[in-house]
Amino acid sequence: MTYIRTNGPLILLVLLYFWVFLFTLFNISFNKGWKTYLIISFGLLIILTLILIYIRIKNTKKLYINIEEFEKTLEGGLYHFKCPTCTGIFAIKKSKSNNKKPVKMTCPDCGIIGVIPSYPLCIEEEIPEKKSIKTSFKCLTCGEAIAVWAEGTDLHNDIQVFSCPFCGIKKPLKKF
Ligand SMILES: [Zn+2]
Ligand SMILES: [Zn+2]
Repeated sequence: MTYIRTNGPLILLVLLYFWVFLFTLFNISFNKGWKTYLIISFGLLIILTLILIYIRIKNTKKLYINIEEFEKTLEGGLYHFKCPTCTGIFAIKKSKSNNKKPVKMTCPDCGIIGVIPSYPLCIEEEIPEKKSIKTSFKCLTCGEAIAVWAEGTDLHNDIQVFSCPFCGIKKPLKKF
């Protein structure tokens, strides 16, 4: 499914259209009598295009529902998110870099529980200068350590991380 989201299928389709178009020109120039085949090819291509458009729209919608929870603003080991409930900004620092599992956690600004999807959409947002104190967590299964803090406000008094961003285990991470 990931391949569908890349431009690969689109380029392939354009190439196929181009070939059918070439054959059509060839057919007209040399009167080859390929009309039926060409019409079938065009029909198949149009069906393929519609399927691709449908899959893309479906994926975009799925992505959107997730993004509503929290949004990422920066790349690197440090990630900034925006809580859709309180619109507060908060930061997460992870010890391992290639951790792409969804994370269920409380918002460090307002305490509501949300899920950060594996691939949150990037948003541009000003990061407030004032930073709260940090809370650190450790996954007892894989050892992943993360630090969480609120930007521009105080840290909510009861922050919890319910799943590990690295190994994906759905066990609360240990606060220390
Ligand atoms: Zn919040
Ligand atoms: Zn873990």
